[in-house]
Amino acid sequence: MNRKFTMLLLPVIILLASHTNAFAQQFAEKNKVYAFENGQWFNGEKFVRKTVYVKDGYFVNTKPAVIDTLVNLQNKFIIPPFSESHTHHLEGVGAPPQELIDSYLKDGVFYVKNPNNVRFFTKNIIDQLNQPNSLDASFANGGLTISEGHPMVLFEDQVRPSIEPMTGKTERGWFNGKAYYTINNEKELEDKWQTILADKPDFIKTYLINSEDIGKPSSSSKYKLRAGLDPSLLPLIVAKAHNAGLRVATHVETAYDFRTAIMAGVDELAHMPGFYLFDAAYSSRYQLTEDDAKLAAVKKVFITTTLMSRTLVEDKSLLPIVADTQKKNLLLLKKYGARIAIGSDHSDSPVDEIKAIRELNVFTNTELLKLWCENSAQSIFPKRKIGLLEPGYEASFLVLEGDPVADWNNTAKIISRFKQGYFMKAFR
Ligand SMILES: [Zn+2]
Repeated sequence: MNRKFTMLLLPVIILLASHTNAFAQQFAEKNKVYAFENGQWFNGEKFVRKTVYVKDGYFVNTKPAVIDTLVNLQNKFIIPPFSESHTHHLEGVGAPPQELIDSYLKDGVFYVKNPNNVRFFTKNIIDQLNQPNSLDASFANGGLTISEGHPMVLFEDQVRPSIEPMTGKTERGWFNGKAYYTINNEKELEDKWQTILADKPDFIKTYLINSEDIGKPSSSSKYKLRAGLDPSLLPLIVAKAHNAGLRVATHVETAYDFRTAIMAGVDELAHMPGFYLFDAAYSSRYQLTEDDAKLAAVKKVFITTTLMSRTLVEDKSLLPIVADTQKKNLLLLKKYGARIAIGSDHSDSPVDEIKAIRELNVFTNTELLKLWCENSAQSIFPKRKIGLLEPGYEASFLVLEGDPVADWNNTAKIISRFKQGYFMKAFR
């Protein structure tokens, strides 16, 4: 036995006095060898009481020969960290970087993905990310879309005037090559590809929107439908990206976009169809079929929810239709075991997305925990061993006051945060 009495005492003090500087002090020390006793650990199905060992920042199978810190977890509940699989909030503008980072860590979110950032702004925050004592994030940089499609119109006509206090006077087109790349044909893809890679994206973001309308006369709707890439270009982009070792995420809106993107070989859909509606006549466009859900499951693509976007629907009388479509789509994806990840798109916290999903009554608390802790982390960093509390995985977890399966409110009662072998600082 390598236990020393003082070491027995120290962790207990750390755990109970979570609002002291004890965590921060401990972080400054070298990565220790830990034994965590008396914790109840989530295994994907239930909570299991066991002793867990951590060495060099990873969970290990066997008890290390020397344990230098023993932590008594006092029957608390241990789960993998939460994730935000789709946001534009972590961008490097607005709030100071540390404030942004802390807002996620406070909610227990360790992993974040921004699928369309502007490198010009992201460089303000990037140096403070992806370290054991910080937030980990992946960025796509600008997305690939058609000229005058989404998000070009959004950035040039709505966002651009608002950033002029930072950038000075800009002309329309300022965001070209920053927030988006226009790809209208194969030649443009060839011409721009090296420029896209030069900014070192973590993955490639593409846009398919109402792709069933490409090449057809514009619709009779009084609303101008948004547009994205010509879908025939998507397989070419996927081939180039995969060749460069990069995954491809696609913004999709309709069920047609959904199946077209999957058939093109993309790795992730940044939305689930049915996140928005402006005209009841279009609601059937967003309804997935059994075959769509089966295809998504077979191809193992990640599908990020972004369901809270329904709160942005202007015509509130359409909300029941939107919620009904979302629920049907979720049930289908669940039925076939598609890989669903949690992402809000529009909030500063995925907690709001979780709330929107829970309102649809599709998942049990256990199922939702798996989506938020396991799938979502893996969708952000698919090459890392994260999201499970198992030997070989990065030793990162949250200690909760109570059982989150029995009472979901316990997901917000985070006593402490442990990341890659270190206790993180406490948050009030
Ligand atoms: Zn988005």
